[in-house]
Amino acid sequence: MVTNLLNYDAKSLADFCVEIGEKPFRSKQLLRWIHQFGISEFSGMSDLAKGLREKLATLAIIEPPQIISDHVAMDGTRKWLLSVGAGNGIETVFIPEANRGTLCVSSQVGCALACTFCSTGKQGFNRNLTVAEIIGQLWLANRALRDNPRVAANDSDRVVSNVVMMGMGEPLANFENVVTALDLMLDDHAYGLSRRRVTVSTSGLVPAMDRLRERCPVALAVSLHAPNDDLRDQLVPINKKYPIKELLAACLRYLSVAPRDFITFEYVMLDGINDSVVHARELVKLVQDIPCKFNLIPFNSFPGSGLKRSSPEAIAVFREQLMQAGYVVTIRKTRGDDIAAACGQLAGQVKDKTRRSTCVRAEILS
Ligand code: SAH
Ligand code: SF4
Repeated sequence: MVTNLLNYDAKSLADFCVEIGEKPFRSKQLLRWIHQFGISEFSGMSDLAKGLREKLATLAIIEPPQIISDHVAMDGTRKWLLSVGAGNGIETVFIPEANRGTLCVSSQVGCALACTFCSTGKQGFNRNLTVAEIIGQLWLANRALRDNPRVAANDSDRVVSNVVMMGMGEPLANFENVVTALDLMLDDHAYGLSRRRVTVSTSGLVPAMDRLRERCPVALAVSLHAPNDDLRDQLVPINKKYPIKELLAACLRYLSVAPRDFITFEYVMLDGINDSVVHARELVKLVQDIPCKFNLIPFNSFPGSGLKRSSPEAIAVFREQLMQAGYVVTIRKTRGDDIAAACGQLAGQVKDKTRRSTCVRAEILS
């Protein structure tokens, strides 16, 4: 069986080189060809001996997920629907801004954690993505954006200057594969991104937050969404297992090694549910010991959600409460509305997994 080299980090690639009778340092050359130059054919790797190139062509492949569709929104946001086999699709979104280009990467097909406001959660869990499928999203985006400068970010060195693990799935529930992909994002021979520019977003898997702290501390965003356990139990069911007190303690432990000196708390703004002044005050009290920033995310609707986005006025008042308490607060801009590329909409416009698979399959076959 041929080996997909996109599954390998530097160490595994060096082991692979030794296995096929080559010097381990070849892995650095291979990493650069694969990840920096985005080459998928060994024949193009001009500083490798011809014999090695031929050997690699018989033993290995460089295979990212297959692109099913590619849409660019009016605001430049670009969304790819990718096939990961068996009729399953995942989505990757590129968000160009004046001084950076952010890629929103998926980590699972579906998600088991079933947050009530999340379209991916409504699909249920299907499977974890492989390393090749996770890093393949960055690989494909870099390649596509290089070919298409009209959606490139203006002033950044790299078209994709930042990665956020905020696509489909819970990254920390697919720990090993996500961390291997993170290692590649940080590796100077691969993507060379700084830890501060790679963010993992989690709904709060406390033991895995501790493991991430030890293994690969990148920037951390935590999906808080509620100022007390009663409400968070309803919105983010994993809270019943890891309640807010434990979650905040894990945040403090994380901060001891984090590349940024704050945690970003994400807070989805749901009309009449978690968006009152009372909620905002409770939130301020709750996080008083944690160096943090807030990112308020206006709820992005999807068919059958039964929920509504908070009004702009309610969001402004909520924000003001947090700012008066001294916090930096951003309101996430709704991007790519016309192509359903916003947070929590990444399961596409279908109601359940069966229909989604059919839809993806239909696109693959067409
Ligand atoms: N599983 C991880 C990362 C993926 S979701 C997590 O939950 O953090 C990325 C962010 O989008 C999370 O903060 C999530 O709560 C938020 N989100 C999910 N569905 C949303 C929706 N419909 N509208 C707005 N934000 C949503
Ligand atoms: Fe999973 Fe995150 Fe969606 Fe919750 S918000 S269901 S953890 S992807």
